Amino acid sequence: MKYYSTKNKDHFVDLRTAVLKSLPPDNGLYMPEQINPLSKNFFTYLDKMSLQDIAYEACRQFLDEDFSGAQIADIANEAINFAAPVVTLNDHLSIQELWHGPSLAFKDFGARFMANIMGRLVADEDRKLTILVATSGDTGGAVAAGFLGVEGVEVIILYPKGKVSPLQEKQLTTLGQNITALEVDGTFDDCQTMVKTAFLDQEINDQYLLSSANSINIARLIPQSFYYFEGYKEVMDGDTPVNFCIPSGNFGNLTAGILAMRMGLPINRLIAATNVNDVVPRYLNSGSYDPVESVQTVSNAMDVGNPSNFRRIENLFDHSWSSIKDVILGYRYTDEETCAAVKEVNDQHNYMIDPHGAVGYLAAQEYAQDHGGQKTVILETAHPAKFLPVMEPILGKIDVPDRLAVLSDKEKSAISISTDFDPFKGWLLSRG
Ligand SMILES: *Cc1c(COP(=O)(O)O)cnc(C)c1O
Repeated sequence: MKYYSTKNKDHFVDLRTAVLKSLPPDNGLYMPEQINPLSKNFFTYLDKMSLQDIAYEACRQFLDEDFSGAQIADIANEAINFAAPVVTLNDHLSIQELWHGPSLAFKDFGARFMANIMGRLVADEDRKLTILVATSGDTGGAVAAGFLGVEGVEVIILYPKGKVSPLQEKQLTTLGQNITALEVDGTFDDCQTMVKTAFLDQEINDQYLLSSANSINIARLIPQSFYYFEGYKEVMDGDTPVNFCIPSGNFGNLTAGILAMRMGLPINRLIAATNVNDVVPRYLNSGSYDPVESVQTVSNAMDVGNPSNFRRIENLFDHSWSSIKDVILGYRYTDEETCAAVKEVNDQHNYMIDPHGAVGYLAAQEYAQDHGGQKTVILETAHPAKFLPVMEPILGKIDVPDRLAVLSDKEKSAISISTDFDPFKGWLLSRG
């Protein structure tokens, strides 16, 4: 399979270029040349397949020019080595837990898969690959865990001092090995600017083979389609289509749902659930896309004012608003509504949902009121223990899973830097 830029449908690159470069030079986004439906056989045997089997079948067409069948099976088995179980709330509502990976958020699917592929692609390069990434929270943790110990790749993470949660900071700063954390005395935007400037700097590029690990990399998008098949498998009833409800920020997760549909998965509607950063729900209602500055909320991983995957969604529907809104419905909620939903899900269903999942729960309920009670799977994007300052005032003391709890005793190791580009560049160049 080849990949094209959303800005130029005639310019094709191979998977290696799309993954290692991340972004096309024309500032578009890479997309697979085509998305073929999976075979009838696949759907006949879906209910007997493991998540790893599904991963193999669903990614084969995207990787087949660069990797053999056996290599693709290894990638699927190594990267997707944790479950995505479904919990039933009632006849029509289920929750799919996407947080069973190392960093306790769904971003582990994308990060582990991308890290595995990049590790294989750089094995043929004579230089080490350096991943430079700016993070405001969850991305850094998933990327650090995903790349930990991957040969031929080092990761440098820039994060804003005092602006990530204590546990998130531990996820970035305690791994060691090939992961280095830079604590920047500035904001997330400052970190992002420093990374972007480094990518454009000739001297740095002469010394380093640089790549980014941000959420627009096509290798992060493909594996996010896997769990839609798994979720469908768990709730399916004949071949009746199912809805998926997706708590959304940058809309990578929802875009992967469109990929799954194009691969033939019987999805009725994709329900886009947002906090007050509601540029996409507004677009779905009005047809006009008006990005704004993001606002901070209790579901902070969805605080995005201009979702980067929106361009992919438009591209997949040939820029037709009416085709988009036939498939995607959007709902938005305030922090007050979100916190009330955390409590409601706990009281009525005895289930602890995180603030992002709670936004999804509200949207799934509202959708059911408007359109009747078809089966809907709500994607639970992170473990509630990642958000103690929001959760504990609502539900009281929360048990922290071991893989998070052990972090509190680990020693933080980070290099403090200012937002000035020159000392950062000097540090990079002096590492040799
Ligand atoms: C990143 C993230 C989201 C948003 O996902 P997108 O693919 O950016 O829409 C939602 N919830 C959590 C917990 C996240 O970490």
